[in-house]
Amino acid sequence: MDCSDTLEWLEAAELGQATAADTEVVQARQHLTTCPVCQQEWPARKSWALQLAASISDVPIPSGLRERLLADVPMPAAVSTTAVHPRRSSRRWVLMSALCLTLLVGLLQFWPQPQPPLTLVELQQGLSVELAGLPEFRGDFDPHLPAIWATSFDFDRSFVRGYPPHGMASGQVALIPFQYPLAGQPEPVKGRLLILPRQRFAESQRTLATQNFRQAQVQYFRGLPGAFLVWSEDDLIYVCLMPGDPEHLARFQRSLAAPRSLT
Ligand SMILES: [Zn+2]
Repeated sequence: MDCSDTLEWLEAAELGQATAADTEVVQARQHLTTCPVCQQEWPARKSWALQLAASISDVPIPSGLRERLLADVPMPAAVSTTAVHPRRSSRRWVLMSALCLTLLVGLLQFWPQPQPPLTLVELQQGLSVELAGLPEFRGDFDPHLPAIWATSFDFDRSFVRGYPPHGMASGQVALIPFQYPLAGQPEPVKGRLLILPRQRFAESQRTLATQNFRQAQVQYFRGLPGAFLVWSEDDLIYVCLMPGDPEHLARFQRSLAAPRSLT
């Protein structure tokens, strides 16, 4: 038995694919006791085999994969006519194909996933979500206030939270809580402004978004107290949510959109 066969049979025994009683394993062990090359090579080979076996056991291998791979791959032309070669070749092919599968599964986890567009209903849920449970904003755009709002609000980046709290698009939408005093109301009205890129807003609903804040129509939530406005500006979609009496949102809009005196 030569060095190459010796290492193959030792490895097979290590992985439980051959038994210590097999003639070839007995011969391999005898060879190992007398061969300095194998004595040097075997520890590294054994460690590699055990690591490979451990990583393979983490990945479920589809049933029939081994047979399909073996059917597709022509066996190398016989290097030797001894009977052990077909068995060794199949084992190596299965190990290598399983290793490729392990790497593929690992890579797919890091492949950028297309972000699903968000619907208006998903965005409306931003009205009732706990602010403390929201993640950092991590969208790929620069959130900023609508032009008309900038005259009435100071924008501080630390106010921006990420929305939605969970799922594939988590944190991709900017959520800014705000409050605004309305004449005759004992407390300022509170609302939430959501900002997202136009292409992340469900395409079927983009016609709902008017071209600016001033023209946006106050719309009502179905079955919930509260109202919202949707408009677009600078290739961003803005959704302004306000709980309670829809008239508050209409007054808020009129107040911000009113022409300002310079004096
Ligand atoms: Zn040897």
